[in-house]
Amino acid sequence: MYELHLHLDGSLRPSTVLQLAQLQSDVDPKINAENIARRLTVPDSCTSLTAYLDCFSLPLQLLQTEEALERAVYELAEDLFHEGLTYAELRFAPAPLTHQGLSQKAVTIAAVQGARKAMQKYPDIRIGLILCCMRGKNLKKENTETIKTAAMLRGDIVCGIDLAGAEAIFPTADYADLFRLAASLDIPFTIHAGEAAGPDSIRTALSFGAKRIGHGVRAIEDPSLIEELIKKGTTLEVCLKSNFDTHCFASEKEHPIRRLFDAGVKVTLNSDNRTVSGTCLANEIRIAKEMFGFTDTEIMQMQEYAREAAFNPIVRP
Ligand SMILES: [Zn+2]
Repeated sequence: MYELHLHLDGSLRPSTVLQLAQLQSDVDPKINAENIARRLTVPDSCTSLTAYLDCFSLPLQLLQTEEALERAVYELAEDLFHEGLTYAELRFAPAPLTHQGLSQKAVTIAAVQGARKAMQKYPDIRIGLILCCMRGKNLKKENTETIKTAAMLRGDIVCGIDLAGAEAIFPTADYADLFRLAASLDIPFTIHAGEAAGPDSIRTALSFGAKRIGHGVRAIEDPSLIEELIKKGTTLEVCLKSNFDTHCFASEKEHPIRRLFDAGVKVTLNSDNRTVSGTCLANEIRIAKEMFGFTDTEIMQMQEYAREAAFNPIVRP
């Protein structure tokens, strides 16, 4: 099984977060074994992507050391192996993990180390790492460094670039320079678009040269954009439970995954954030089958789309 869209900071084991919090004196002392899962998982009252993103503040505070980063990547890879995955691309933004003095390069090397250790222990799973640039005010310097770090460390593990964060507030069009740089360095990239923001954000991402779109589900609002996605063979990294959590559509039933797939768009299933959304690839597959009537053959087709779109080549077993 393959998965392309999975955030490290949204997929930490609650028990690990608790242990890391206990090691850091400046972290909220009210955190304990009873309330830790609640702190990391999106509440039912969540109504937007911005509220959803609040669940990441504690993990980001804790992933500031090489030990914590290496451990987090190792454990996530281990969890994915036990779920039956053979290839997964994990993503994180290195810039917000430098608040205790690490460089983006050191952050990324620690993550690579965690991936390497996991692959040594579990040779049946391959891990790729995608470095996320962040939407936000005055982040050009940090984002440029993220691209350069990816270029420097690109290899069998570091494999691509992403743009994450509040897309309804900071439009994709503001990041043209950044992706011009990524394209000039020949780093493949995906961009979060068409989730909180509409079809224009997807169009802009395509004009930058994005091979894949994170979510991209609001393409359904624009038939000519659907045609463009099909023509270009762009892959959508769809995350059902996460879209339900952020109320991307008026109701869960209105989610367009079935219509996009039937139209011929290369749709893939992903969990986005295992802990924040309380999901995993198996659960996404279950939702796709039970709520949208996907057959085993169609699920396998989506897996094939994921295999084709992986930033590191996947060798069929
Ligand atoms: Zn995402």
